[in-house]
Amino acid sequence: MKKSKIMHIRSLLSFLFLISTLVSSAQLKSPDEFLGYKIGTRYTPHWKIVNYFQHVAANASGNVKLEQYGQTNEGRPLLLSFVSSSDNISRLEQIRLNNLRLANLTKDRAAPVEENAPALVWLSYNVHGNETSSSEAAMMTIWSLVDPSNTKTKDWLKNTVVIIDPCINPDGRDRYVNWFNSIVGKNMNPSLSAREHREPWPGGRTNHYNFDLNRDWAWQTQIESQQRMKMYNQWMPHVHVDFHEQGVNNPYYFAPAAQPFHEVITQWQRDFQVTIGKNHAKYFDANGWLYFTKEVFDLFYPSYGDTYPVYNGAIGMTYEQGGGPAGGLGALTDEGDTLTLLDRATHHYTTGLSTIEVSSLNASRLVREFRKFFNDAVSSGVGEYKTYLIKNNETDRERVNALMALLDKNGIQYEFAGGSSRGTFSGYNYFSARDEMFTIDGNDLFIHSQQPRSAMIKVLFEPKSKLVDSNTYDITAWSLPYVYSLKTYASKTKLQSSAGTRPSAITNNVSDAYGYVIRWQGLQSVKALTTLLQQGLKVRFSETPFESNGQQFDRGSLIIIKKGNEKFGNSLASIINQACNANNVKANTITTGFVDKGFDFGSRKIHYIKTPRIALLTGESVGSNAAGEIWHFFEQTLNYPLTLINANDFGRINWSDFDVLILPSGNYRFFTEKSSTDQLKEWINKGGKLVALEGAVGQLAKTDWAIKSKKVDDSDKKDPYDALDIYEEREREFIKSNIPGSIFKVQLDNTHPLAFGYPNFYYTLKQDDALYEFIKEGGWNVGVLKKDSQVSGFVGSSLKAKLNDALVFGVQDMGSGKIVYLADNLLFRNFWENGKLMFCNAVFFVGQ
Ligand SMILES: [Zn+2]
Repeated sequence: MKKSKIMHIRSLLSFLFLISTLVSSAQLKSPDEFLGYKIGTRYTPHWKIVNYFQHVAANASGNVKLEQYGQTNEGRPLLLSFVSSSDNISRLEQIRLNNLRLANLTKDRAAPVEENAPALVWLSYNVHGNETSSSEAAMMTIWSLVDPSNTKTKDWLKNTVVIIDPCINPDGRDRYVNWFNSIVGKNMNPSLSAREHREPWPGGRTNHYNFDLNRDWAWQTQIESQQRMKMYNQWMPHVHVDFHEQGVNNPYYFAPAAQPFHEVITQWQRDFQVTIGKNHAKYFDANGWLYFTKEVFDLFYPSYGDTYPVYNGAIGMTYEQGGGPAGGLGALTDEGDTLTLLDRATHHYTTGLSTIEVSSLNASRLVREFRKFFNDAVSSGVGEYKTYLIKNNETDRERVNALMALLDKNGIQYEFAGGSSRGTFSGYNYFSARDEMFTIDGNDLFIHSQQPRSAMIKVLFEPKSKLVDSNTYDITAWSLPYVYSLKTYASKTKLQSSAGTRPSAITNNVSDAYGYVIRWQGLQSVKALTTLLQQGLKVRFSETPFESNGQQFDRGSLIIIKKGNEKFGNSLASIINQACNANNVKANTITTGFVDKGFDFGSRKIHYIKTPRIALLTGESVGSNAAGEIWHFFEQTLNYPLTLINANDFGRINWSDFDVLILPSGNYRFFTEKSSTDQLKEWINKGGKLVALEGAVGQLAKTDWAIKSKKVDDSDKKDPYDALDIYEEREREFIKSNIPGSIFKVQLDNTHPLAFGYPNFYYTLKQDDALYEFIKEGGWNVGVLKKDSQVSGFVGSSLKAKLNDALVFGVQDMGSGKIVYLADNLLFRNFWENGKLMFCNAVFFVGQ
């Protein structure tokens, strides 16, 4: 009895405990309550941010809908939180569809309802992982939107849907936060000399593959961008904010942005940036905080979190708080103040709320102008050209496929010409830079400007962008016909298609034969090769063009014959079918090794491709973006093994384990150490192949055994008084000798394996003025810069005339090995499509 009574009390107590936990967990908590510390006093790892957003969604479900839209390379979840009035949340899908109809982006013809359509405000936090205050601010922001005692925000949410991405780049954020938390002392140390302000290589700015996600909005080479942009394009917000951080000593930056503005940006988009900026200023003034506007952060390069939304009808903005990786939990500024993480988060929280407020106050105008942007696009199109015609011949097929994939990602519509030739038309030829006559073939691609994404089309396709101010933050040229090297005509009249259809994917069904040939035409061909090599097939390539069985094959064509592949027996044909089908390339059957024209398959002009064992130098002293581009390319594009080696370990590596060593742009210490360079030279002499890119070529040029730099005379001032610069003009003076990324035409010797698969020219992205002398003997000048070869983008006036008569791509013989010089970046942000094949030529063909 006594016992059972105790039991009874116990179960009652545990029941009460259960109730109390249920009640307390059902209580919506502020971030401080939930995390157990005040925001800004510690760094919050990503999983705890996720937990807080889940907590809010679970406990304010009437006002919040949380959606996981993907995950990162390292497996962290990517989230969007939709916050609004319960009425709006209950009809969220209806709001989304209506918004797409306002933008003419739905297939149905249903009429949109403009009246009472809510404003859509999308806030993106922490795209640069080591600009950490913004994800802390994201938690403060969502709390103030759902905090029951905050009636002001509830008013805003009546006509506004806020979409919060608490962390665009969780892998980068956690790289920084885990590092910081692991090395900070009991108390934070505000001295910038303390190690907690000196983040180690590669830093948390970028994602897993060291890509800057704030350069990837249009190209979407990274999985974070691919998954996010799918959501973005299903929602199409009216206002988008990208939260960043800059140097510790900089005051806060917010809209309006700096020049250059791209000319497609509408007056409304310009004006509303000012409206927003003035609203922020009101709060900053009241608190006595410093800020600046209209400087540094421009709106030009289309792949940022501000420009991309702008070119897609939104008000897109970047906000910059002082801090970044040097910020830590507190940092001593030049003025002697301690800037804390709480200060930084509070500023971002303030501009975030102010953005929502001003959007709510102007909701109907935002919706009206958003609709007008897209209606104008559909009815008139943006820019002088009405149709861009892209030639799609057999040799262009792989690059056209890549272009179509990019257009699809960005919701840009295109169609195929179809029908037979309909006479001649006139338009601007990108390759000759002249208006010319042209004909239309059935597979040619049409992109009409009169469609919803017209502004984006104009920005991506215009031959030359108009720059009112060249002091820009990034590259100034990206015109897709050059990036993809596709013969394109821009027509001022709309071209009519004959309802052509998309060429179907190639299905191969080769059977047992003497051999098979695969043409070498682009990345799909390369992927077929790497698939075959990985399976252990013996593959050859032809140095010269040849004809067999009535078919013509160009240089670089891959040849697979039974000899050497006996072990595959009858399955050889099916392995080839699979590899070619998977990569959409054609396998051609060959019945004899005796060719009709050219050299027989037993000739020395047919080269066996030894499956290369490849090493990439990485780590301290290597450009992290440059190394990341190569790492990502091998793993995610080619699916080919690569060994990453720390440059600091150079002296400790057994180099005979590798056939190819890739040196990304960097500042290599081992070039100053004789033992290491002797080791490198010995390895090359014995047959190793060194592939040096960009700055690594410059490093080699400082040695006495490699290429030489070309001296550029930049003394263009004859009158001695001309040489005296005016202080106020100092930024202008800098521009005269600046080259922020501009397109040049390089002449190619396409009989050399480094240029197989190319015509006799290549459009390169030049990002520096480093020039190299021609290789006089024992090597090949495969790509050279001649006079007047600049095609598009900005080049400083004092520099322009001097960028010529120099080597850009070359191969130097050294003993039994080679050095391949690639002075420009062939894999730039992995979107410079036409460079990828040349990089593969360097790795798989040169020296074989
Ligand atoms: Zn940033």
